Amino acid sequence: MIISCECGIQFEVGKNEIPKEGRNVQCGVCNKVWFQTPYEKIDKNLQGKTSHYFANLFFLLLIIVSFVGIMETFKDDVIYNFPEIEKYYLFIENTSNNFLKEIKYLFSSFGI
Ligand SMILES: [Zn+2]
Repeated sequence: MIISCECGIQFEVGKNEIPKEGRNVQCGVCNKVWFQTPYEKIDKNLQGKTSHYFANLFFLLLIIVSFVGIMETFKDDVIYNFPEIEKYYLFIENTSNNFLKEIKYLFSSFGI
């Protein structure tokens, strides 16, 4: 792997020279000492976090869509039993109308 010092010099070191938990290395040009960790470890952690984030976001979206779908299916019953929930339906209607408007605006601004 290649490690680089603040002074801009890069060094080629063997994979076995930097242990998993990292170690101190010293630049042979400017004598600066810093703590070096293997790149692979850092990259894997970052990738794991991002894919987790998108999986969670997708899951959350799925829950919201199913919830809205169920609420739409039982709309009449729900409003009959809980009249105050009509505000929720108005909110959903407004939101989806605005969303559709935004989409239409987006398409028209591209000239489609
Ligand atoms: Zn240096």
